[in-house]
Amino acid sequence: MGLVTISKRLQTIARYCPQGARVADIGSDHALLASYLLVEGIASYVIAGELNEGPYQAALKQIHSLPKGRERASVRKGNGLAVLQPGEADVICIAGMGGQLIVSILEAGRDKLEGVQQLILQPNVGEELVRRWFLQNGWQLVAETILQEDGIIYEILVAKPGDAEVPYLQQERTRDELLRLGPFLWAEKQPLLGEKWQREKEKWRKVLTSLERSDKPEAAERMQQVQKEMEWIDEVIACLHTDKP
Ligand code: SAM
Repeated sequence: MGLVTISKRLQTIARYCPQGARVADIGSDHALLASYLLVEGIASYVIAGELNEGPYQAALKQIHSLPKGRERASVRKGNGLAVLQPGEADVICIAGMGGQLIVSILEAGRDKLEGVQQLILQPNVGEELVRRWFLQNGWQLVAETILQEDGIIYEILVAKPGDAEVPYLQQERTRDELLRLGPFLWAEKQPLLGEKWQREKEKWRKVLTSLERSDKPEAAERMQQVQKEMEWIDEVIACLHTDKP
């Protein structure tokens, strides 16, 4: 079989796919992850779901170029999990979208989650929303990874059906804080987590600068909120620097 080259981000997602699983990749774009999972012999069957015509055509072309593409893969056009039949996938991957969109896809496709053993999600932003959705819907976060590629920091969240509260027990931070930080990333004190929050702080610093120039009456109150947020981030960063595992 030919070689499929994918990014470090997608490779990391692939590492979480159990051997022999039937994997659905929703929002597959060029179906690169799905192709890699097939070519590397990780997935026994892949479903690539795509909403938009251009990427759907690209996915079809890519999958059909693989030796066993037509037998062991299905490329489907449609919205989110609507492309799946119940029980068809063991693992669902959704990557490269905002957390809000990922959550809305999971919400709209609840009936398709029955029998799914693992969700592997990579929100570009809004990781907290995804963790909160897990918590509220009986999905137990079982692993998290943070990685950097081409200067961009990504987080990958893996969950299985189970006791959704478990990752948030017996930790020195509140549940709300851990939903923001990531309970596993926090416990592991990953250095990149400090870098991520440093960047968050930079964003807030810019907001603060523009608020300082504003003459709107609500600016003062907003500045206080932003300052409080920056103080929290400072404290988080200080812990990450001192609490090395
Ligand atoms: N998953 C790939 C990755 O991580 O590299 C591609 C990410 S790309 C930025 C997002 C893809 O999701 C686009 O191809 C877009 O057309 C598709 N998409 C957006 N909303 C979708 C939805 N509701 N259902 C299926 N696909 C969707």
